[in-house]
Amino acid sequence: MTPTVVPFTDLSFQWREIRAQVLPEIERLFAQSAFCLGPWVEEFERRFAEYLGIPHVVAVNSGTSAVHLALLAAGIGAGDEVLVPSHTFVGSLWGVLYAGARPVLCDVDRQTGTLAVEDARRRIGPRTRAVIAVHLYGQAADMEGILALAREWNLRVIEDAAQSHGCRAADGRLTGTLGDVAAFSFYPGKNLGAAGEAGAVVTRDAAVAERLRALRNHAQRERYRHDELGFNYRMDGIQGLVLTAKLAHLDRWTRARRDIAMRYSRALADLPLELPQVVRGDHVYSLYVVRTPERDRLRAWLARRGVQTGLHYPIPLHRQPFMEPFGAGALPLPESERWASFGLSLPLYYGMSEEQTDFVIAAVRAFFGREASR
Ligand SMILES: *Cc1c(COP(=O)(O)O)cnc(C)c1O
Repeated sequence: MTPTVVPFTDLSFQWREIRAQVLPEIERLFAQSAFCLGPWVEEFERRFAEYLGIPHVVAVNSGTSAVHLALLAAGIGAGDEVLVPSHTFVGSLWGVLYAGARPVLCDVDRQTGTLAVEDARRRIGPRTRAVIAVHLYGQAADMEGILALAREWNLRVIEDAAQSHGCRAADGRLTGTLGDVAAFSFYPGKNLGAAGEAGAVVTRDAAVAERLRALRNHAQRERYRHDELGFNYRMDGIQGLVLTAKLAHLDRWTRARRDIAMRYSRALADLPLELPQVVRGDHVYSLYVVRTPERDRLRAWLARRGVQTGLHYPIPLHRQPFMEPFGAGALPLPESERWASFGLSLPLYYGMSEEQTDFVIAAVRAFFGREASR
């Protein structure tokens, strides 16, 4: 087996920077048995709300749960249709099914991989109630287009900000604050990652926030009284603790990600390779995805040289077996297919060295028969 020279990710650099602060806090948390919700989670909710400039953050146990609760909070249920891009992580979509609604898969745009608004418009029907705006790979979806579409058709807008912590949309506002309600994931590998599973739902609406707080905790506003169907979606205390510590570093860690991405983009620009395009707002490079019809060969080539890569995501949602009961849909999804078959994610993580970045660059250039540097 080839030894790994550049892993796809390595979270230990983050740990080293928070360790001294976090370990004694963990002692305190255990001493207080503050395991489920509790003061450390509340502290994180306050800090993250402050960071986003939004009044309400409701911490939950995963991004998938966050999308589910966001849809319930937006009033989505049985018989409703929800527009979802076909090219995204499946966690963007499960909540639609959990809510008993029907996902209507839409195509994405070639440049950014985010929802193609004109394609989504053609799929709107009398039951369409909401749209999920996924800020894929760390760049905002076309929020101007999505918000205009939503106004025109009276749709709720749910943002999936699982890959866009700290990312600004075209108008300068932070993703997660632009729609009716937004879902974040803090899965360890995300730009802001916990020490296990975690997520959050955020909103400006106090009544919605109150309902979300009840829903995540067995639909209890008052103990042992359950007002509706509830869930156990509470965040662990320890995740709140770790997330508060990491949030203080997020913007600096994001700048480091951007530097690595810029280094890639400069050094790969002359290759027959489509690179990430920043067409609106900024980019926080949750993933650095290049595209080529030679994707599988390039991936194997890099693996043989000790460079780990990822596929995000190789099977579009409309081709997933679980979607079969919903039928093929009348319209094709060519750009979603293209992203799924051409996309390759290069290593990018906080702490990745310039030498490692250059090693990846040289290996990619060699694949295309080019010298390491121009
Ligand atoms: C990670 C992710 C999710 C799901 O989050 P989990 O915390 O893993 O449940 C949803 N949508 C997108 C776009 C994601 O990247």
